[in-house]
Amino acid sequence: MRAVCVYCGSNPGSDPVYLDAARALGRTIAEAGLGVVYGGARVGLMGAMADAALAAGGSVVGILPGALRDRELAHPGLTELIIVDSMHERKAMMAERADAFVALPGGLGTLEELFEVLTWAQLGIHAKPCGVLDVAGYWAPLLRFLDRSVEQGFMTQLSRDLLLAAEDPATLLDRFRAFEPAPRRQWLTATET
Ligand code: AMP
Repeated sequence: MRAVCVYCGSNPGSDPVYLDAARALGRTIAEAGLGVVYGGARVGLMGAMADAALAAGGSVVGILPGALRDRELAHPGLTELIIVDSMHERKAMMAERADAFVALPGGLGTLEELFEVLTWAQLGIHAKPCGVLDVAGYWAPLLRFLDRSVEQGFMTQLSRDLLLAAEDPATLLDRFRAFEPAPRRQWLTATET
C-alpha cells in the first residue's frame, strides 16, 4: 500500500468532531508513510484532511475537474494538483492512483464515489480495500442498511464484506493491511455463493 484515496464531504458537517476526524485521518495516513489522493478542494472536510496530511509531511495529490475549480476552491498548497475535464476522469484517476479507499463523512458526492469503487471491487475490476471511518456513528445506519440488503437477498455476504469500517484511522489502516480479497469469481453473482 503506497497511497490512500480519501473521499469526504465538501462541507464541514454540523459537529466539530467531523473536522477533528478528517485531520486525524490525514495525519495518520501521512505518519504511516503513505500518500493521500483526494478531490483537490480546500473546502470542508476535504481541505481539513489535506492540510493535516501536508502538515505531517505527507504527499497529497488532488484531482479536480476544471468546472469545480471555483466552486470547491482548489487547494493552493498540494504536492500535486491535477485538473481534469470531467467527474468521470476524476474518479478513474483517483482509483488508479490509490491502493485503498476511505470515506469520511460526506454527502451525495462522497456516497457516489464510495459506491462506485465498491461496485468495481464487487465486479473484480480492482482488488483494493475500501472502508468507512465511522465518526460518531455517522455511517452506522448505512452499514445496517447493507446488512439488510444481504438479509433480503440483494447482496452476497462476500460483497458486504468488501466494505470495512473502523472508528479510528489507525485501526482502519490495520484492516486495510490485513484485507484479503476473495477470489473474483465468487463476487460475481448472488447465486454462485
Ligand atoms: P459531497 O459529499 O456531496 O460534499 O461531495 C464530496 C465530493 O464529491 C466533492 O468534491 C464533489 O465534487 C464530489 N462529487 C459530487 N458528485 C460527484 C460525482 N457524481 N462524481 C464524482 N465526484 C462527485
